[in-house]
Amino acid sequence: MNAVRIDGKAIAEALRARVAREVTSLQVQCNITPGLAVVLVGEDPASSLYVKTKAKQAQAVGFKSRQFLLPSNVDQAQLLELIEQLNTDVSIDGILIQLPLPGHIDHWRILEAIDPAKDVDGFHPYNIGRLAAGRPILAPCTPLGVVHLIKTVVSDLNGLDVVVIGRSNIVGKPLAVLLGDFGCTVTGAQLQTRNLPNLCRRADIVVSAAGCAGLVRGDWLKRGAVVIDVGINRTVDPAGAVKIVGDVAFAEASERASYITPVPGGVGPMTVAYLLANTVDAAVSRRALAPMTRLEARQIGTSRVVEKGLAG
Ligand code: NAD
Repeated sequence: MNAVRIDGKAIAEALRARVAREVTSLQVQCNITPGLAVVLVGEDPASSLYVKTKAKQAQAVGFKSRQFLLPSNVDQAQLLELIEQLNTDVSIDGILIQLPLPGHIDHWRILEAIDPAKDVDGFHPYNIGRLAAGRPILAPCTPLGVVHLIKTVVSDLNGLDVVVIGRSNIVGKPLAVLLGDFGCTVTGAQLQTRNLPNLCRRADIVVSAAGCAGLVRGDWLKRGAVVIDVGINRTVDPAGAVKIVGDVAFAEASERASYITPVPGGVGPMTVAYLLANTVDAAVSRRALAPMTRLEARQIGTSRVVEKGLAG
């Protein structure tokens, strides 16, 4: 079997185009231009690149985009003050604090300070709780992107066995919840899990979000499995060239899988696209719109996952 590559770049582009159409509708029908604030603390090169990409794509879909670049020694009180300003700024619908934050800042204190209605990363405990209760408003972007990619190649997820490797708050745990809501039987694996290869061999879908290059081998996979690789790992080859790879041994896995995501060009672009989609949803859901407008607004955005089955 030679697996078909799931083209995350193209699927993300289609989602961004849809978001751009939604922004136009919001502007024309409701006089709303969604506003996204991205906050970066410090100068970590990878984080700086992510922030630039997010700001550029936000502008491209028609948002009002604002960037706040703070020095790495900024104190927590100043950061909290900025968040409070953004919480009360009516032109801002989404607030994103680029993680990780420097060690002297309590990142939970920061995430909890964001107005949950503007928490477009979906990391606030309120939004995590709503997701766990099956009533998501703003869910984390990478898990939404993963489910969307899966739904492009598997129309009915009911009853499928899925292994999610990794149980971080931003990827593995929320993804397991979402897939459970779609009717999957989910096994959440982590570093302590025993017999991971055997668990994977029984799975219809394997998602790896461990951050461990080459972890998932070809012979861990059932023939025809769908493989989604969330991992982003920097490797250096013997000649000293830096390469970004996923968690999955791609060539081996392609021999057995039916569909597989590449790294780069798989899950990564979807994460940014869902940040944009979440910002539109936040712009719609946090406003008390008139009934007619609300109807239109519901068609546009709110509860994208539950009501729209993601792909439409
Ligand atoms: P994390 O370090 O917070 O969590 C990793 C999880 O994987 C933990 O639960 C750990 O127990 C588990 N794990 C690690 N090694 C394992 C192993 N050998 N076997 C089984 N379980 C193992 O990481 P995270 O923030 O969730 O990110 C995971 C990976 O996904 C990283 O490579 C990260 O860069 C990438 N990531 C990609 C995107 C994207 O948009 N593509 C977004 C977020 C994270």
